[in-house]
Amino acid sequence: MPQAETSQAEEVPDWHALETGAVLQQLSVSEDGLQQAEAERRLSEHGPNKLPEAKPRTPLIRFLAQFHNVLIYVLIVAGVVTALLQHWLDAGVIFAVVLVNAIIGFVQEGKAEDALKAIRGMLSPNARVWRDGRLLTVDATAVVPGDLVALQSGDKVPADLRLLRAKGVEIEEAALTGESVPVEKGTASLGVDTVLADRRCMAYSGTLVTHGQGTGIVVATGAGTEIGRISAMVAEVQQLTTPLLRQMAQFGRWLTLAILVLAAASFAFGYLVRDYSAAEMFLASVGLAVAAIPEGLPAIMTITLAIGVQRMAGRNAIIRRLPAVETLGTVGVICSDKTGTLTRNEMTVGTIATQARELRLTGAGYDPHGVFLAEDEPIDAQADPLLTAALRGVTLCNDASMELHEGEWRVHGGPMEGALLVAAVKAGLDTELLAKERPRTDLIPFESSHKFMATLHHNHTSESFIFVKGAPEVVLERCASERTPEGDQPLDLVAWQQRMETMAAAGQRVLAVAVKPGQPHQSDLDFKDVEQGLTLLGLFGLMDPPREEAIAAVRVCQQAGIRVKMITGDHATTAKAIASQIGLLSTETALTGRELDTMDDAELQRRVIEVDVYARVTPEHKLRLVKLLQQTGTVVAMTGDGVNDAPALKRADVGVAMGINGTEAAKEASEMVLADDNFASIANAVEEGRTVYDNLRKAILFILPTNGGEALVVLGAILFGFQHFPLTPVQILWVNMITAVTLALALAFEPPEPGMMSRPPRDSRQPVLSLTFLGRIGYVSLILMIGTFGLFLLDRWQGASIEHARTVAVNTLVMFEIFYLFNSRYMEAPVLNLRGLFGNGYVLLAVGLLLLFQLAFTYWGPLQTLFGTAALSAGHWLLIVLVASSVLFIVESEKGRVRRRRAQDATG
Ligand code: ATP
Repeated sequence: MPQAETSQAEEVPDWHALETGAVLQQLSVSEDGLQQAEAERRLSEHGPNKLPEAKPRTPLIRFLAQFHNVLIYVLIVAGVVTALLQHWLDAGVIFAVVLVNAIIGFVQEGKAEDALKAIRGMLSPNARVWRDGRLLTVDATAVVPGDLVALQSGDKVPADLRLLRAKGVEIEEAALTGESVPVEKGTASLGVDTVLADRRCMAYSGTLVTHGQGTGIVVATGAGTEIGRISAMVAEVQQLTTPLLRQMAQFGRWLTLAILVLAAASFAFGYLVRDYSAAEMFLASVGLAVAAIPEGLPAIMTITLAIGVQRMAGRNAIIRRLPAVETLGTVGVICSDKTGTLTRNEMTVGTIATQARELRLTGAGYDPHGVFLAEDEPIDAQADPLLTAALRGVTLCNDASMELHEGEWRVHGGPMEGALLVAAVKAGLDTELLAKERPRTDLIPFESSHKFMATLHHNHTSESFIFVKGAPEVVLERCASERTPEGDQPLDLVAWQQRMETMAAAGQRVLAVAVKPGQPHQSDLDFKDVEQGLTLLGLFGLMDPPREEAIAAVRVCQQAGIRVKMITGDHATTAKAIASQIGLLSTETALTGRELDTMDDAELQRRVIEVDVYARVTPEHKLRLVKLLQQTGTVVAMTGDGVNDAPALKRADVGVAMGINGTEAAKEASEMVLADDNFASIANAVEEGRTVYDNLRKAILFILPTNGGEALVVLGAILFGFQHFPLTPVQILWVNMITAVTLALALAFEPPEPGMMSRPPRDSRQPVLSLTFLGRIGYVSLILMIGTFGLFLLDRWQGASIEHARTVAVNTLVMFEIFYLFNSRYMEAPVLNLRGLFGNGYVLLAVGLLLLFQLAFTYWGPLQTLFGTAALSAGHWLLIVLVASSVLFIVESEKGRVRRRRAQDATG
């Protein structure tokens, strides 16, 4: 197998010790990269570039793990003792239940795990490689040895690379070396003995580029990479759990313990005080234990969680860390980027200002057909030297490219740079020719921390030019002069600032472009080269309209008591204009990064609540804002895309990374990834988060009274010294199991309650079960007990056999649960309406199924023998339904009281 060959240590050359030319030669590749056909051949030879997956637990182990549970231990011991007492049938049923329980758990857990695996698969990273001389984006698994890979800050290195070019490249190699301080990289070859952590000319698979741009040649892929060899990065195994689930598991363990003590006490009481035999009392205590322990609850909660995660993925919110599902329901503030999240990120140049005049540009999208208008009159763009100079500047100082594909124009690279190219083509510039005539020798890449980009070019006479484009204030402060029809003149700063304000006030993002001659034969570009002395060529105003869905989603959030804040790198005026189009609450004031720097924490904390627009901020400001917002006691969700956003994303309660435009570094730091980069998906995820939490609570609220009712029935029978118990242990097991797989499961599919998004967010410190809910669990348990006991006694009193009376008791209990299931659909809202009774198809299906099971339980010979049941008449059923329906009305009237009290509290 080829993969095995590459992982043989002795066959791997010391790539770091070879010169770049020798590396290219050894791997038979030119500086233009591989041909696509050759790449495909190598892919079939070397196999896909992925790490061997962590071995999943074998099905057998997974199955056996189902038995590792306190309740199951209790049941097994009970089964063994029951068998020793020669109650073969009961023992058989107990073991059957244990087995069925394990099978159900096994299947459900498998489904939940598959769902999560599918969601993880949606996050597979990409790589940018040169194939056939062009830069393409491919799936990282398709990268092969010899591929030339482009790296930029935020990327995760897709394979082991020998660097051929490195411009300010810094890489964080914690995944490999454990060292979290980024290492500066270069291209010079090193001594053979250089240790891994010091190999500065190498970039290793799985590490993160935190700064700069570079190119490397792939020397090893998949299992052949360093990380593959130490196999340290076996896919993170996610625990199917959240804080609430852990809390409930803990609660479950205490409950089990308490129940065992209670069972032991009742054994002693029954044996010593009520004169039951030890064997009888043992069976009764087992009955009590199985009645009281909510065995179905953990499985139902896991399933509810998995369904929630799947629903979120269906709505473009991919959860990376499960606890976020719960946190989402408590979010009180969402801090969102502007560009691409609240706006469409489909940019078009709308205005260009030169020193002489302001021009408008027609046309939309990437179609490079449009007209330049001066005071609404079309002009010949090529006849305007100032305009052409500005357009040449933004064309050269640009990393995007355009391509006509099947009659449609496509842009590769960022939408803003694409829009600038489109404007140049509209003016009749041949962008490709220009790039050939003025080749680029070096660049300072754009970073949101310095907010500009600069490139160095030379012409055929080796004259060099530096172009700078970026945020206007950053470019303006580096300019000494401006280009005018009469040549370069000293800069009129005030006039340019006014031009910029007018463009920004219309919601346009403004960009300035400037030029400066370079030194003769200059080949490197440094920050100090662009610090001063630039000549301003013009300003570009780019339109990026808000997303319709974002406007609607912001409204939904506001109704749900969630404050939306815009935190953008863009200019304050532009940000305020867009904020008011989107409908943020406060759009009068915007705090800029500079203002944030002058405020101390106490002052900013006072303002952070009421100010909704933050402009020209850097990632460090984002981190500070998250911290201060959290200190006010709110749960904060924060979006981000760049590598520098990682600390703020990690700090936020829910870090949200962009799936399309986000870097790998941002994705790794976040809890959730948006598949469509759309703000509306965050609002949807919050809604799903609230739903999941509600459904988890509904499951608890539904299941616990069932166990409470059953336990009270058994306890009552022991206390009163009944000869025959109303429910046998196996009947109790039947009820618990059959209702868990039907009724309780249906609650996991419960859609959001009406009005859920007009409630304020839940307080994260609130306990899962409020006093109201504990009270409800208590009184519903009592109703179930009284009804079941009552009908059992009545039946006995009328002279029925014990089998008949027990069948009445079991069916009463089940019928109570059916009615109570409808109550449990809404925690406080009324259900006695069309939507409440018929709104969830799963509930109706579950009820139908359960009724079939009960008919079999009551009338089918084999089950009658197994469970000791007897056929019932229609009259009995009528009575059962009448009695059991009481719970529906009693709980509904209690809910009504809760609602009235709440309304009074709100008005009073
Ligand atoms: P948001 O944070 O909402 O996504 P943003 O995309 O405007 O907003 P940044 O990417 O930090 O934030 O950009 C800040 C500013 O830097 C922009 O307003 C623009 O003026 C300038 N800028 C952005 N991209 C480039 C680029 N490729 N070249 C030069 N300047 C740029």
